[in-house]
Amino acid sequence: VKGKVGNPIAEYTPEMDRNMELKKKITIGMEAGLLHGEFVLCMQPKYSLSDESMSGAEVLVRWHHPEMGLLSPMMFIPLFEENGFIEKLDMYIFEATCQELQKWKRAGILNIPRISVNISRVTLGRKNIVKELIAIAERYNLETDSLEVEITEGTLERSTERIIKIINDLKSAGFYVSIDDFGSGYSSLSILKDMPADIIKIDKEFLSETFDSQKGKKIINSVIQMSKELNLEIVAEGIETKEQAESLKSMNCDVAQGYYFAKPMPLEAFKKLIKITRQ
Ligand code: C2E
Ligand code: CA
Ligand code: CA
Ligand code: CA
Repeated sequence: VKGKVGNPIAEYTPEMDRNMELKKKITIGMEAGLLHGEFVLCMQPKYSLSDESMSGAEVLVRWHHPEMGLLSPMMFIPLFEENGFIEKLDMYIFEATCQELQKWKRAGILNIPRISVNISRVTLGRKNIVKELIAIAERYNLETDSLEVEITEGTLERSTERIIKIINDLKSAGFYVSIDDFGSGYSSLSILKDMPADIIKIDKEFLSETFDSQKGKKIINSVIQMSKELNLEIVAEGIETKEQAESLKSMNCDVAQGYYFAKPMPLEAFKKLIKITRQ
């Protein structure tokens, strides 16, 4: 390594080797993984804080890797966003979700709540993404308003005009749109100004860090009140304790999602849950 004195990037560590190894395995296995059904859907319910009814659920992907076992999305989503594979995965997950919902409807399950799917900023870059999503929903005879698209706040920090158009088009088509990880970036507040989404999801790290102090609670409270003024539904994610849930309820936060209420679960378990849950 030449000319890199003091540059930590040039420093070799065995950890880097392991990372490279992991990345390689993930890249080599991804296409086959998709073909063989190794990517599976989980769902995590969201609850209305006013009456604790289930108001929706989020689809979260898991990878049952043949060699490495169960992989969390944190291990492969960032890599897939780099190498572009996320496009295929997002489209697959969206379609698999629609297919599942159609099955449930055909089986006579009536109280299916609104289901949200994460769509990466990379996938939103597809030329006809909104048309594609509409076509998939139609293929499975689903009303678009039974589906929600979660777009991360980070997406809005770049190429904003194009993204705003996409959000508007999604909404015109009937989909709900939420801004995920709100509060995780640098421009959260300015994003609210001309962002046409229906729902704001307060980032779990932002929430847990901010909740720690009285000042922090006031910040959360004003984010909630401001969202109300703007007619946005507000969802708090990563709720792990009763105290957090009660505090958010007293601030009139609409919806909460987190381990305190329910963890992400396999589809079968979720289906059982909605069969016995009132809405
Ligand atoms: P996210 O969209 O912010 O999803 C919420 C994450 O928080 C999920 O992690 C969920 O399991 C976790 N979580 C929920 N409640 C709690 C809690 O009370 N405490 C804590 N500590 N965590 C909680 P997960 O499933 O590991 O997913 C991580 C991220 O991967 C997601 O964050 C999302 O950005 C991404 N992701 C997952 N599935 C997909 C997908 O199909 N497509 C795309 N593009 N991204 C996905
Ligand atoms: Ca999400
Ligand atoms: Ca989030
Ligand atoms: Ca997140």
